Amino acid sequence: MIEYENLGKLNNPFFEEYQNSFSQTLQSGWYVLGNNVKNFESEFAEYTKSKFCIGVASGLDALVLALRAFSFKPGSEVIVPSNTYIATILSIVQCGLVPVLVEPDILTYNIDPNKIEEKISKKTVAIMPVHLYGKSCKMDLIVEIAKQYGLKIIEDAAQSHGALFKGKMTGTFGEFGAFSFYPTKNLGALGDAGALTTGDSDLAKTILRLRNYGSDVKYYNEIVGFNSRLDEIQAGFLSIKLKSLDDINKHKRKLAGIYLANIPSDYILPVVDEDYFDVYHIFNIRHEQRDELRSFLLDNGIKTEIHYPVSPNKQKAMQGIIFGEYPISEEIHATTLSLPVSYFHTEDDVMKVCECLERFLKK
Ligand SMILES: *Cc1c(COP(=O)(O)O)cnc(C)c1O
Repeated sequence: MIEYENLGKLNNPFFEEYQNSFSQTLQSGWYVLGNNVKNFESEFAEYTKSKFCIGVASGLDALVLALRAFSFKPGSEVIVPSNTYIATILSIVQCGLVPVLVEPDILTYNIDPNKIEEKISKKTVAIMPVHLYGKSCKMDLIVEIAKQYGLKIIEDAAQSHGALFKGKMTGTFGEFGAFSFYPTKNLGALGDAGALTTGDSDLAKTILRLRNYGSDVKYYNEIVGFNSRLDEIQAGFLSIKLKSLDDINKHKRKLAGIYLANIPSDYILPVVDEDYFDVYHIFNIRHEQRDELRSFLLDNGIKTEIHYPVSPNKQKAMQGIIFGEYPISEEIHATTLSLPVSYFHTEDDVMKVCECLERFLKK
C-alpha cells in the first residue's frame, strides 16, 4: 500500500530532536510566548527574507489578523481566487468583509491576474492571492494592479513555504504573508500553528497586539484583540523542522520531477516554468475520469486525495455569500487528483504510481 500521507512517518526523522525539545520546554515551565516562539519567529523571518515574523495560532488566524490589522470598513470587498481552500474566504467573511471571487488560470490553478481588474470596485480594499499547491501566483502582475488601485496584498502562503516567484519568496510581495504550520504542510507542526510575515514595523506591532488580547503590557489593552498565540511546544518543533525545510522541498521536487517525466500526456500535469520554484505541497494531475481513476489506483494499493472536492461557490456555508458562476473552478474541482508526494515517499513509490497511471489508460 502506498499511502497518500502518514504524519508519523513524515516526522520520524525528527523523533529524537522533538523529544529533546519537548523535555526542555516542559522543564522550562514557560509554555506561552517565550524564547522558543521568539527564536522561531526570527528564524522564519530570516528564512523567508522578511523583516518581521509573528507566530499565531493557525493559518486561518494569520489571515484573519492580517485583515483586522487594516480595520477595513465593514462591507469592503476583498479579491480572492474562486478555487482556494475555504479558509481564505472564511477569513474575509469573519472580518465582516465581502469576498469577490476571481477565476483561476486553468494551467497554474492560481488567480488569473487578467481577470482581477474587472472585479475591482470602489469598495475593493485588498487582494488575497493564494499560492495553491506550492506554486506562486504571478506576483509581478498582481503587485502592479494593487499599486495602481491602492489595494493591500495579503498572500495566503499556507501551501508555499519556500516557493519562489522570479527568485523571491512567496509571502514577501505584499503587506503580509500568511503561513499555516498545520501538520500536513511542507513546514508542519504537531498541532495547529501559523505565522504572518511582513516588512512593515507598524503592521508587525499591530499583529503582536492583536494576537495577545490587544495588549503590549500585560493587563493593559490598547485595542480589541484576540487570543491567537503560537505556543512554545510547537515553536520548538518548528525550529527543528525549519532546518530541514529545504531538504523536504528538495525531496518533493525530486518526486515531482519523476512524475513529470513519466506520467503519460493523456493526463494534465502541473506546468513547469522558469519563473517559478515550486514546492509541491500538493502534486495534482487532472483527468476527465477522475473518480474512476481514483478507485483504480486504490484497487492497486495507491491512496490519493482530492484538493478539493467542492468548489467554494458550491459549499453550503457559502450560500448567500458567494454569487455567480465559476466554471473554471468547478472544472478543476471535478477533475483534479492529488498524488502521493510526501517526505517519506521513495522514488520507487512514485514510479509505481506512474506505472499504474499508464495501466489505467490501457484498461
Ligand atoms: C491550510 C490552509 C489554510 C489554513 O491553515 P490552518 O492552519 O489550517 O488554519 C489557509 N489557506 C490555505 C490555502 C491552506 O492550505
